[in-house]
Amino acid sequence: MNFKNVTVAGSGVLGYQIAFQTAFHGFKVSVYDINDEVLAKAKAKFFELSECYKRDISATQEQLDNTFNNLSYYSNLAEAVQDADLVIEAVPEDVAIKTEFYKQLSQFSPAKTVFATNTSTLLPSQFSDLTGRPEKFLALHFANLIWVNNMAEIMGHDTTDKQVFEDLVQFAKAIGMVALPVYKEQPGLILNSMLVPYCVSALELWINEVSDPHTIDKTWMKSFGSPKGPFAILDIIGITTAYNIAKLHADVNPIMARIKERLENEFINQNKLGLPTGQGFYSYPNPAYESATFLKG
Ligand code: NAD
Repeated sequence: MNFKNVTVAGSGVLGYQIAFQTAFHGFKVSVYDINDEVLAKAKAKFFELSECYKRDISATQEQLDNTFNNLSYYSNLAEAVQDADLVIEAVPEDVAIKTEFYKQLSQFSPAKTVFATNTSTLLPSQFSDLTGRPEKFLALHFANLIWVNNMAEIMGHDTTDKQVFEDLVQFAKAIGMVALPVYKEQPGLILNSMLVPYCVSALELWINEVSDPHTIDKTWMKSFGSPKGPFAILDIIGITTAYNIAKLHADVNPIMARIKERLENEFINQNKLGLPTGQGFYSYPNPAYESATFLKG
């Protein structure tokens, strides 16, 4: 693995975390986004993130200073990738946006550059023909709160070079991730293939009034000694994402249509979006599931 210069495209929820984590581990990182206004927001978020690194993983001021020195910012794609060994794409989960992005990226990138997509639900083979280097293209999927939930799934497609796959496994480890190889293309990779049905089952119990969210979570937590149940997880993912997934399937799946309606009326329209707004199935900070009495009665 010979990567030194990494470009992260898209500085939203996941992109700015990937950029910071990569810079924290000593790589030179070019942060690319569509305009300077969005990049300014990313810069501000890096300062907030450095406080989390101090609190959660005892990062020193020297490590954080080095991290900031490793970061540079671009709103011009050609400049952002001119010497990139690896581009990690974290642009929105939208086929049209990703398609247009890969068309441009393939034009501007040097031949050496490996492309990795952070997609949660799409497949590398959907975009491989656009990259101009299908053998150097694969998925590298991170989890939200990357510095503590430090895992990365690595998934190629039929013609991904085996050495490139191995290089990405090594890169994931080099930036502090537990590297999780996926051997066959699968929408949702490993994590979301399990997580989406799990959360949908819990939501179905709730909309069918089989039980209430806190009782459903308690059932899971008590049975497996798990620190969180599905509704706590939904709050962390964000109710907006759950709502968007339900909306996607609402036309063909009546259960998803009902989940969508309940989430819309009781959460989305009231700005109860989970952890991002401090109110979802639980209230934050100090959600009930973290209290000592939650599992007592
Ligand atoms: P987001 O909407 O928060 O951020 C997307 C960013 O991309 C924004 O800053 C936007 O300005 C930028 N952008 C839009 N068009 C662009 C373009 N053409 N070129 C460059 N930048 C562009 O999205 P997100 O939640 O960070 O998701 C990004 C990717 O990461 C998606 O593929 C998603 O599936 C994946 N992902 C998200 C999560 C999560 O928890 N949010 C977890 C794992 C993976």
